[in-house]
Amino acid sequence: MSCCTDGAAMAALPLKLHFVLVPLLAQGHVIPMMDMARLIAGRGRGARVTVVLTPVHAARNRAVLEHAGRAGLAVDFAELEFPGPALGLPEGCESHDMIRDYTHFRLFCDAMSLLAEPLEAYLRALPRRPDCIVADSCSPYPADVARRLGVPRLVFHGPSAFFLLAVHNLAKNGVYDRVADDFEPFEVPDFPVRAVLNRATSPGFFQSPGLERHRRDILDAEATADGLVLNTCAAFEGAFVQRYAEALGLKVWAIGPLCLLDSDAETTAVRGNPAAVDASLVASWLDARPPQSVLYVSFGSVAHLFPTQVAELAAGLEASNRPFIWVAKETDGLDSGFDARVEGRGLVIRGWAPQMAILSHPSVGGFLTHCGWNSTLESLSHGVPLLTWPQFADQFLTEMLVVDVLGAGVRTGIKVPITHVVSNPEMSKVQIGREALERAVVALMDEGAAMRVKAKELAVKATEAMAEGGSSDSDLASLVRHVAELVQQGKDAVEVHDAPDLREQEEETS
Ligand code: UDP
Repeated sequence: MSCCTDGAAMAALPLKLHFVLVPLLAQGHVIPMMDMARLIAGRGRGARVTVVLTPVHAARNRAVLEHAGRAGLAVDFAELEFPGPALGLPEGCESHDMIRDYTHFRLFCDAMSLLAEPLEAYLRALPRRPDCIVADSCSPYPADVARRLGVPRLVFHGPSAFFLLAVHNLAKNGVYDRVADDFEPFEVPDFPVRAVLNRATSPGFFQSPGLERHRRDILDAEATADGLVLNTCAAFEGAFVQRYAEALGLKVWAIGPLCLLDSDAETTAVRGNPAAVDASLVASWLDARPPQSVLYVSFGSVAHLFPTQVAELAAGLEASNRPFIWVAKETDGLDSGFDARVEGRGLVIRGWAPQMAILSHPSVGGFLTHCGWNSTLESLSHGVPLLTWPQFADQFLTEMLVVDVLGAGVRTGIKVPITHVVSNPEMSKVQIGREALERAVVALMDEGAAMRVKAKELAVKATEAMAEGGSSDSDLASLVRHVAELVQQGKDAVEVHDAPDLREQEEETS
């Protein structure tokens, strides 16, 4: 067993570390992993990083990769064919945002698990085994691969520590099992703040029927990891990060907000996907608006609105008399005269928007959002307060963190998750009517001065956290040292025990 100090472990390493990052195949998970890849390659003492993607995701992210290459960062892709069609998924359906039929979700999880074999074959064929695999918590299949290869493994969590700790404590204390119905309120036990939730809005990870095995694999992969990586920072939710680390008895590094890595126009224009509009045209449109006057409206990459809801949202935005940019994934429900009526005041983007370029523009003063964790971080990191419209998954808990704990947003008033709206034919498909929406916009844009101040304070703290010597920068350095130590311990163990597989590797690289 090694007795190296952190610094000695780094100094003793003959080679630069090679990290392999394996994201969940969804935009909200690939994007932060791409950021993480560039962060590690830039600050990981010359580390090399490979991101494991499928052809659709590789194509979407190629421009960011090329940009990283031009910046001298050692990042590359490993492209694996997605085995979806073999299980009955449509050809080319390689990302959560491409799933149109809800019943395909379980098939998608199964198809991801089938990537274990090609991943292992790819890693075995490398001239040298990687030093660390970082796998998204929602795609647990690399856990067995890492174990078979004897490679250290970290788990990356996409959501907030607030969400992770809440659902962990609820499950551990059997609270979910005790409630009579989905809307019965309960309090989160052992939580740093008072949080009253229900099972409908805060169901925890992968609770749907049919996903039991996947959920078990996720929990096992997390419990057996060599540490956890979170896209957050101490200033946003330090108490929750610490309590989560204690609850799991694992090392946890908060290395975000990772989005702050994307500050140049070239990357923000193509982040996640080439944008459907020219980012410079959007910037000029924003340049012509007063500071903090524009409301940005987007529901992320996955969530969809019913046509009747689209019509109410359109009417609310029109009546608000405010400048807005609306990323409308669906146009059913939008009448053909809408664009003409709001011309000069509203910009509707149909398709992928350059979200980071928009949120970092000084004319943007508020974000009507579904509370995806990435969108939330991107908004707060740029001092933009939120108008919250959560839909499912971790989003209601993110809303609670933003509004009740951080004081940087206001609720639109959604009480029922879209999952329940979809599955109940009796339920109105309009979650928020036009008048309520108009009032909510006023509450944020006209009466939200205190929230704006909070958001701006958080932006300063986030920038400090990511700067050299900040809390997230220190956590990243600690993560890299930890991996160096694990690699060193592995080498020491080879000297003592019979481990031909690893010895071969040593010989190959010496
Ligand atoms: N995004 C974007 N343009 C779009 C829609 C989304 O750049 O038109 C990005 C957004 O900036 C964020 C990610 O996609 O980085 C969405 O992640 P989030 O966690 O907010 O929501 P999800 O899509 O996972 O529900």
